[in-house]
Amino acid sequence: MERSQVLSDDALAELRERYRIERERRVRPDGVRQYLGTDAEFGYYAADPYAGETTEREPARDRVDVAVVGGGFGGILAGARLRRRGIEHIRVIEKGGDFGGTWYWNRYPGIHCDIDAHVYLPMLDETGYVPEWKYAPGEEIRRHAVRIAEKFDLYADALFSTAVTSLTWDDTSGAWIVTTDRGDEFRATYVITATGTLTEPKLPGIPGIETFKGHTFHTSRWDYGYTGGTPDGGLTGLADKRVGVVGTGATGVQVVPKLAEDAGHLYVFQRTPSSVDVRANRRTTARDVGADHHGWARERRDNFLRIVSGESVEEDLVADRWTSSAGLLEKLLPSFRRQGDRAAFEAAYEVADAVKMNEIRARVDALVTDPDTAEKLKPWYRYACKRPTFSDLYLQAFNRDNVTLVDTADTHGIERMTEHGVVVGDTEYRLDCLIFATGFSIGVSGIHSGRLPVHGRGGTRLQDTWAAQGPRTLHGFTSNGFPNLIQLGGVQSASSVNFTHVLDEHAVHAAELVAAAEAKGALIEPSREAEDAWLAVLAEDAPDHAWFHAECTPGYYNGEGRGRPNSPIAYPHGAFAFHRLLARWREESLEEILRPVRPVQ
Ligand code: NDP
Repeated sequence: MERSQVLSDDALAELRERYRIERERRVRPDGVRQYLGTDAEFGYYAADPYAGETTEREPARDRVDVAVVGGGFGGILAGARLRRRGIEHIRVIEKGGDFGGTWYWNRYPGIHCDIDAHVYLPMLDETGYVPEWKYAPGEEIRRHAVRIAEKFDLYADALFSTAVTSLTWDDTSGAWIVTTDRGDEFRATYVITATGTLTEPKLPGIPGIETFKGHTFHTSRWDYGYTGGTPDGGLTGLADKRVGVVGTGATGVQVVPKLAEDAGHLYVFQRTPSSVDVRANRRTTARDVGADHHGWARERRDNFLRIVSGESVEEDLVADRWTSSAGLLEKLLPSFRRQGDRAAFEAAYEVADAVKMNEIRARVDALVTDPDTAEKLKPWYRYACKRPTFSDLYLQAFNRDNVTLVDTADTHGIERMTEHGVVVGDTEYRLDCLIFATGFSIGVSGIHSGRLPVHGRGGTRLQDTWAAQGPRTLHGFTSNGFPNLIQLGGVQSASSVNFTHVLDEHAVHAAELVAAAEAKGALIEPSREAEDAWLAVLAEDAPDHAWFHAECTPGYYNGEGRGRPNSPIAYPHGAFAFHRLLARWREESLEEILRPVRPVQ
């Protein structure tokens, strides 16, 4: 299609300029430093509200086959896949009081997963479970996590409310020494890390935040004791309260409609509006989703992954706004713009992008009655500069008399807090309660972050090696000098919006590595040459998306507006191709990383 047929060059130039201005309004010199971690004096924001009293237990001092760090879907799937390969003594160590990871912590009212439930919930073929809604509520997903953990007997050896504090390789026993904050010190022949990505809540560094005398908490630690109700709503404790919510990302968009229903008055403090597309959640039957034969779930999630990885398929089984916008999601992929004539690609892309974002902005006009409020709710940036969101309730919430939108773009967010509330411009908004929907710190949970010291062969510290040389892995899973250590969902692999699918493929791979090493009585450890070869694969078709992120409005996707380097941090051909590559490598080359326990003299 000729671009002039869709949008004139002038219209596109105008949009470009508007995007530039809106970005400039929001870029802050302090970048990621504007946020506060929820440790030290703000540690209470991260405390576990669901676990109840921590009961004393004897520290573990034994030896297990595999220690799995993290009890979210990554850890659960690793455990399940290991069990299927006959591994017996599996110990999952988890900070929360139960399995579930992000679905354990996030229980805010309105919580759903915005990815089709029949591709997001893993192991549907294996458990026989068929979700009843197209987009599942958080509690259903949490219960499914528990279902898998029970089915594969992962509770028996699990350590909950426990954080791993160090991993140290011991050559003599051929095992990792695992220590925790509960005094455990045990050995594990293998360690699998599944520590997640968005795990640590963060707060905005608003001057005076500590002076506020009202009630506050983060959405990932919902205080139902204060609000009353459940994730389905009924927040009766808020009926006479002035409630503020900071943040309008994917979480804010889900929580605002429930708060609007029940709060005396709700103030939504917005800095950047989200793109809010159609949700169209509905009940589904097994027949609707093709759940009539074994393997249906695998077919469906492969189909979804192929589409959002930019591959072509004959039929779109999920058929929602993720799949229909898949072309515009490509910029989230490392493979973005790897082929063809760059100028032609950019021109076509810009038009498709403008059409989509105009549709999103028109939806705001159609749903929000007050024109001034509607104007403030329109996102002025390219699609997927920020994570796309979906709701049929969020925009409409601003038509209620008890909801006020407070735009904070010109002041770079809330300016300051007082003991009574929040100040923006000349106005102090007096509040009884302020809820932070302000997201999570990035790069703090992986083992490369330094939070969890890892000492490999000869005492080498993984974090030091990677700081000096950059990350070095084979396929993102294993590293030379760190035998029998397998990372799930880490750098130098490939990811996707359907992260549970990615984690499951990684879990299968990890289990195959362990099973092969067990069968041979060998250690899992790639050579430096194997790492070099993988780095070369990553560099060969390295992406070119730094320009895109540099033009985007600030957020966690682009280092708060600082852009994102074009470094080869992921496999450049998408997750589906990566999984194919792993399967082929397991068939043809797995033996290459098995080392005799004692080197042959
Ligand atoms: P985000 O980081 O996406 O959003 C944080 C929000 O807080 C932004 O709107 C941000 O504004 C705002 N904010 C931060 N500081 C200030 C300030 N000083 N003043 C005013 N506003 C401020 O966090 P979320 O929890 O919404 O989402 C995190 C991720 O979790 C998502 O990207 C997604 O990956 C995942 N998620 C997935 C869901 C699903 O259904 N699958 C549901 C919910 C979350 P600004 O944009 O201007 O920085």
